[in-house]
Amino acid sequence: MTQQIETIEAMIATRSSLKGSVGVVPTMGALHDGHLALVEAARRENDHVIATIFINPTQFGAGEDFTTYPRTLEQDIAQLHEAGVDYVFTPTADQMYPPRYQTYVDVEIVSSGLEGAARPGHFRGVATVVTKLFNLTQPTHAYFGQKDAQQVVVLRQMVADLNFLVDVVIIPTIRERDGLAMSSRNTYLTVPQREAAGVLFRALWAAAEAYDSGERAPTSLRETALRVLRSEPLAHVDYVAICDPRTLFGIHDGTNDPMIMLMAVKIGSVRLLDNALLPWSLNDRDGLSAALGTRFNL
Ligand code: AMP
Repeated sequence: MTQQIETIEAMIATRSSLKGSVGVVPTMGALHDGHLALVEAARRENDHVIATIFINPTQFGAGEDFTTYPRTLEQDIAQLHEAGVDYVFTPTADQMYPPRYQTYVDVEIVSSGLEGAARPGHFRGVATVVTKLFNLTQPTHAYFGQKDAQQVVVLRQMVADLNFLVDVVIIPTIRERDGLAMSSRNTYLTVPQREAAGVLFRALWAAAEAYDSGERAPTSLRETALRVLRSEPLAHVDYVAICDPRTLFGIHDGTNDPMIMLMAVKIGSVRLLDNALLPWSLNDRDGLSAALGTRFNL
């Protein structure tokens, strides 16, 4: 039976009673098979598993979807139970950010571009809440999805810089049948928008095929992806970038070192993210770990 823990005090008391390894899976709920892949890996690899469900207000910008973000707690807990999760920590925003709260974690350089540029303050909110969740749950292993690749790079940097004694595990992106990366926000899409959304995967795949045929020039790989994206009238490109997977600095010259292609594309008012390592064969757990670096070799 999954036990729900609703207060910080109860979380601390429970954690202090646990011996052995503890896998933690931070989420904002509205769980889908992407989240469950993280949970299943945590279940296989740890003595105890704690999932957290917290829609973190500090990572949403003004005018973003904080109030409308899907909330499906009962269903989420049932899924976590099914997956063998021991505890689900569901603190309230008032507990996490009481009056006079004033401390934030800023991971400076890797937070600044891409999503950080499009959503000022987003990664400061993420790094802050993950720090708090790490302090409260003291994980030996923490699980995050490749889907949010910049988040992983930011958090790995934070873990290295602040000496958190936790292994950050990256789980490859889980996709729908047409390749669309699973996301709680996909439920915002109308039927025609949902159909159009498959274009992100097709764009990544086209770039990967070009890479496989020997193309290494970032401008050309990017143009290949953009051509596919432009073929979908409902898709509006925010960015397509080719970066060094460890630093997220843009790559401008052809190289045989792994690259990561990251994209943000708006379909209607829904902003969708996706990414892939090139070559495509690196998009598994070992490839991701090697390309993005571990806490010992950032
Ligand atoms: P969220 O609830 O959106 O904050 O996501 C919680 C965790 O699940 C994050 O580490 C995400 O990167 C991860 N995640 C979300 N979607 C997917 C997916 N399609 N495949 C793998 N991991 C995912």
